[in-house]
Formats: sequence, structure tokens, C-alpha cells
Amino acid sequence: MRYSRMFIPTVKEIPADAEAASHKLMIRAGLIRKVASGTYTYLPLGWRSLLKVIAIVREEMDKAGAQEILVPSMQPKELWDRTGRSTDYGPTMFSLEDRHGRMNVLGPTAEEVFTTLVAGEIKSYKQLPINLYQISPKFRDEFRPRFGTIRAREFIMKDAYSFDKSPADLDKSYQAMYDAYCRVFKRCGLEYVIVEAESGEMGGSGSHQFTVPCESGEDTIVYTEDGSYAANLERADVDPLAKEIANADIPPMEEVHTPNIGSIEAVCKFLNTEPRQMVKTMIYSTENKTVAVLIRGDHDVNEEKLRLAVGGKHIELADEATIEKVTGAKVGFAGPVGIADKVDTILIDHAVSAMAVWVTGANKTDYHIKNVVSGRDFNMNNAQRIDIRYAVEGDMHKGKKLLFKKGIEVGQVFKLGSKYSEKLGAKFLRPDGREAPCLMGCYGIGINRILASAIELGNDDNGIIWPITIAPFEVLVTSVNQDDEKVAQVADDIYQQLLGNGIDVLLDDRVLRGGVKFKDADLIGIPIRVTVGKKSVAEGNVEIKLRCESQSQKVPIEKAADKTIELVSSLKERLMA
Ligand code: ATP
Ligand code: MG
Repeated sequence: MRYSRMFIPTVKEIPADAEAASHKLMIRAGLIRKVASGTYTYLPLGWRSLLKVIAIVREEMDKAGAQEILVPSMQPKELWDRTGRSTDYGPTMFSLEDRHGRMNVLGPTAEEVFTTLVAGEIKSYKQLPINLYQISPKFRDEFRPRFGTIRAREFIMKDAYSFDKSPADLDKSYQAMYDAYCRVFKRCGLEYVIVEAESGEMGGSGSHQFTVPCESGEDTIVYTEDGSYAANLERADVDPLAKEIANADIPPMEEVHTPNIGSIEAVCKFLNTEPRQMVKTMIYSTENKTVAVLIRGDHDVNEEKLRLAVGGKHIELADEATIEKVTGAKVGFAGPVGIADKVDTILIDHAVSAMAVWVTGANKTDYHIKNVVSGRDFNMNNAQRIDIRYAVEGDMHKGKKLLFKKGIEVGQVFKLGSKYSEKLGAKFLRPDGREAPCLMGCYGIGINRILASAIELGNDDNGIIWPITIAPFEVLVTSVNQDDEKVAQVADDIYQQLLGNGIDVLLDDRVLRGGVKFKDADLIGIPIRVTVGKKSVAEGNVEIKLRCESQSQKVPIEKAADKTIELVSSLKERLMA
């Protein structure tokens, strides 16, 4: 490709809405342009890179025995009603009505369609296992699209779905995908960590996330220093805290008038206490149950843990009417005293159980209570004591200190079991003639996030530093003095030789000042640059420089192509899986 003929609109200005380094650089280097909130057009350089990521993913999926298909992005909502996910996904799912009044969704993922397909085609255990995947656009009306293509509303995902006849076979399918993911991310030049994610209905460690540690990540990885434990924040288990011992006899509980003071901060200020001495009572609802959750004032309820605690059901904060019915007070004054028979379940976080004495809401508008002692002051019979909060700095896991860092989730693998196959009838006949549901796994990779993460990890003040495997080009030949016939000729010769050897090369043949060309070269970040300039050509040399290094080396013109080819191989070798 010749730069002079390519559409590479690089810009100096940093876009106002760009927070993440990758977002800024993708715009500046002319990889993408924004169309609307969370939707982007990929320009030639960006698309070339994305296609390289797709090629790697496709190769590794095929190698692992998965087969590529393509299902529609626009799917009948009725399919999603059958699994209940049209409600569970909530407003994140785009939906649209067609001219006949039928409702459709734009797939945020595709379990329903894949499972229905298999339900219609697979009859016998002899046809299993099967693993099908696609690489296609997905749509999510994210509450807060941000960081450019990292959290977009339309993005490309590779999603695979495995169907097995036994738990042992599912384990094998899962492991094959897990291993393929390791190879994909290695080949894309990413440093990543694998963390335990929410395990779902299969129990055990049924899900793993592949996360690239970096500051712009919205995920939090929680881990122990020795590497024995790593989980995402939703999943991270914390040890119960040591039980506090009260210094003296705790006086009887006492109601305090706290007019219009509902928030934890306001109550603390008013009562001259600290959030860690308070207990928040949060009222939640499932479809048919009311659940009270007791959590320390400075902690937050982990709704993923909560969802698992109520059997994996959809659970959300109760509406005002329910809260008022349970507590007999306005929102903001809920407490545990006297609500045992008003709710179906009470869940008490371990950190609350460790407290000797609590300050809580009084279940009376404008009142709180001091000196509450559990067991003494209210009935604990139907309470369940569990870990139901997010881990915070200072928490331990199995006696080891938990550390935190930010990361971008680039992929996730999941054991689904029979959740979808039961509901959608993906069953097969076992050798004994009995029918059983397929055991499923699902496996997603965010193609665009791989690109963005690679840029997050590989950049400096001047621009992108690509891993060679997913760079838009492997080599850039810069003709510094394109108006000089000799220089232009040498550059063209090297370019042709590289092309002839299958190297993905861009020739900067623009008639522009060298400084401008070097700036663009650094910005677009092609891993190897061959610089052909008047002075060095007169000496019979060109200069070869790696984007990731500051030193260049002089190489005789006639050896330039061979040397470059060698460098391409050695850079690629480092990323071999
Ligand atoms: P997140 O927690 O970041 O919202 P998720 O866990 O909901 O992601 P999955 O359903 O596991 O996402 O989707 C598989 C992969 O698709 C993710 O690992 C991620 O790489 C990618 N992905 C998900 N949402 C987006 C998005 N809004 N923009 C770009 N990529 C995304
Ligand atoms: Mg995920």
C-alpha cells in the first residue's frame, strides 16, 4: 500500500470526549471516527488491525474444534421471552418493532439463537460434542458508553457455544476454549490475567474472565500477592472479620430523633459516629419474595453475590411502596428491629455479624436507634449470615491480604449447564434411550477491546506502539525525500522486495517534510520503520528502527529487505503461542 493513496486522516487535536489513551490515539492515528455515542466507523488502518485480531481468533477457534457460523443480529424477542432474558437484560437490550407489529431485539449475545438451532438439529448423543461460534456485531444500549471502543453500544464479539452430553465432556470443551483464549491473547501481544468470575448455576469455578490490567479498565481485579487467588470484584470472596468485643456493658437501645436525616453521612454527622458503626438495612425484591440485607455503613452490597444467595433469581432494590410496607416508615429509616416477620429472608453480611453494637434505622420516619445488639434486641431466627458485600482495601482472603487493580475484560468463558437447553428444548437421546438436556458452555471475546487494550499497553507520548501481529502494517518504508529520484527509487525497491516476500508493508511516498512523516509514523505506530533518506542513500545505507526502541541501525541498501524480513520474524516469534 502507498501512503499517498491511503485514507489515513491523522489529527493533532485530542478529542474532547476521549478519556482513555487508546480512545485518544485511535482517533488521532486515524483508526476510527465516532458516529454517535458508543458507535464508531473503522477507517482503513483500524479495520486492518481489527481484521488481524479476527483472523487470530478465528484460527484459534478452528484449531480448538469450534465451527464458524453466522446467526442474525436481529432476533425475535419471543426467543428471549422463553428464557426470561428479555426482562433480565432490561434497558441494555435494544428492541424494535417491525411493520407487522412483531417485536425484535438486536442481540447483545446469542445463547437463545444458538440453543434453538441445536434444539432443532441434534437428536442423539452421537452428534455431540459440538461447538459453534460466530464473529459478529453485538448491540448493547450501555448506560454509559465510554472509553471509545472499550464500552461501545455496537461492537464485534466472537461468541462460541458448546453442547455436551456429560459434565466431564463439558469440562473438556471449557478447557479447550480456555486454552484457546490464552493463545489468542498471547498472539495479540496482550499481558493478561485470568480471574475467577461468577460461577453461575454449575457451582465450583464455572467462569473465568481474561482481563488486561491497565488504568482505563472499568473492571477491578482482586488478588493475593502470592498469586494463589484472583477474582473479579463481583466474585471476590472475603474472610469474615474478627468479632468485635464490646468494652463495657452495652446500654439498652435508644431511639434518637433524626429529622430528615436519612443518608449515612448525614446520620453519622448528626450522631457523631462513623459509617463503620452503622448498619444499613436494604430491602430487595425478587419476583415473589422480599429480602432484607444488613450491611455495614461503609460497605456496599454486591448484587451478584446477592443474586446467587437467592438462588440465582433476578433481584432488585424494592420500590418505595414495598419499603414503606415492610418498615412502616419513609425510605431512609429501615432497620432490623421488628422486621423479621415482614420479610421472607434476612441476609446479614459477615462484617455486620462481627460488630458488637450497631446504629440502625428505627423503622419509624425520622428516627434511628443506637446501642442495638443483635440477638438481644431483635429476632435473628430466619437470618442467614453470609458474605454479601464487595471486597474493600484491608480485606483478606483465606488469611491473605487482598490487593486491587483495574483492568479491561477482553474475554469470558462460562459453564452454563442446562439453563438454556432446558428452556429451549436442546435435548438429546442418551445411549440408554433416555432424554437429557445438552450441557452448555458459552465463550465471548471482545474483538474491539483487544485492539483498544493493545493500545492501552503499547503507547508513548508520540503515539501507538503495536504488537506486530495486530498492527495495521508490519513495516513502514519512509521515503524521506520523495522528490529525490534516487531516494524514491531505493524506497520503492525495498517496498517491492518486502511485498514479494509476503510482508505487510506501507510505503510512505508522500511528498512532505521528513518531520511530518516521522510524526505520523510514530503516531500510527507500525512496529518496524525503514527510513530511506538522501544522506544515508548517498552512503549506500538505509536506517532500520523498531517503534518500541529509540536507536536505529544503519543497514546497507542491498541488505535492507533481508534484515527487515528477519526482524519481522523475530518480532512475531516472541508472540507465538
Ligand atoms: P462488561 O462487564 O464489561 O459489561 P460483560 O461481562 O457484560 O462485559 P460479556 O457478556 O461477557 O460482557 O461479553 C463478552 C465480551 O464482549 C466481553 O468480555 C468484552 O470483551 C466484550 N464486550 C462486552 N460489552 C462490550 C461493550 N459494551 N463494548 C465493547 N466490548 C464489549
Ligand atoms: Mg463478561
